[in-house]
Amino acid sequence: MLKRLLLVAANNKRLERQLGTNPRTRKLVSRFVAGTTLEEAIQVTKDLNNRGIAVSLDLLGETVEDLRKSAVATAAYIEAVQAIARECPGATVSVKLSQLGIGLDPAVCAAHLDDLLRAADDVGVLVEVDMEHSSVGGATLEAFRAALENYPDTRVAMQAAMRRTPNDLESFTKTKPRIRLVKGAFLETAERALQAHDEVTSQYLYLTDWALEHLPDPAFGTHDDRCIDHVKEAAVRLGVDRSSYEFQMLYGVRRDLQQKLADEGYRIRIYVPYGTEWYPYLMRRMAERPANLIFFLRSLVSG
Ligand SMILES: Cc1cc2nc3c(=O)[nH]c(=O)nc-3n(C[C@H](O)[C@H](O)[C@H](O)COP(=O)(O)OP(=O)(O)OC[C@H]3O[C@@H](n4cnc5c(N)ncnc54)[C@H](O)[C@@H]3O)c2cc1C
Repeated sequence: MLKRLLLVAANNKRLERQLGTNPRTRKLVSRFVAGTTLEEAIQVTKDLNNRGIAVSLDLLGETVEDLRKSAVATAAYIEAVQAIARECPGATVSVKLSQLGIGLDPAVCAAHLDDLLRAADDVGVLVEVDMEHSSVGGATLEAFRAALENYPDTRVAMQAAMRRTPNDLESFTKTKPRIRLVKGAFLETAERALQAHDEVTSQYLYLTDWALEHLPDPAFGTHDDRCIDHVKEAAVRLGVDRSSYEFQMLYGVRRDLQQKLADEGYRIRIYVPYGTEWYPYLMRRMAERPANLIFFLRSLVSG
């Protein structure tokens, strides 16, 4: 119930305006967001790299209302890949296609994505495509499929909760793209997505085996011990070396576990968001863990 409320609130523009300008939210924001500028995000990336942890940078912002904003976001992503190549090679960028305008004009979005992929390829940086709400999910997957023709190392997130995901994965058995398996962070109807947490976790475990068996270099985006232990165990069972897959986690979530996996010799990449448009991202993080909400409410009261 609380989770649903928070996910509904994630799309509430009025609340976004109110909280976005409230200085008391700063403490919570800084726990999950690396900073407002690219320079701050690059510094956080270097710090994580020094601890044996890789990074994917995410420029906050989604669902642009006009195409001019999608061009600005594309230019900012291109600036990010160039900074990565100069200052912290090995990092990737994670991009949301709603930020590049997929909800407004898929052709314009495809052109932006192509510009970004070309610029990233020029400097040897890889791109990951986030999977968003189902209202843009199908279009995101088609844009990704088209991008694979020229940039086969591009990675896409696949949501275990979505009922269509097993079929989508089967459709990739020939092209074998790199994927990031996640549970799914958006409010979806029962028609489209599994609703019970246990059911989603079971599906995650099933798709883990499938990804390890069929796809190269899968990434497992999860903080769930049950899923992480299953990935490790399934990889051994299927003869997949730990250098051939990676764990991914969100900046600020289970930091001890992130370091532990790195120290144990597992590949781990942290999704590091930066920028000013943190509101919907943060609301999804709170929906994932109500304890974050209590921390947030306390910071609002105490300042
Ligand atoms: C690198 C990465 C990229 C992602 N990309 C996408 C994407 O493209 N599309 C998409 O829909 N979703 C994405 N997600 C979010 C994902 O779908 C889940 O909503 C999120 O990871 C929580 O699920 P979980 O597997 O960690 O398991 P859960 O069962 O939700 O959590 C397991 C445990 O992890 C800890 N935990 C989880 N979330 C939090 C949190 N926010 N704060 C504090 N502790 C927490 C808690 O201890 C919890 O008990 C991404 C997640 C990661 C890690």
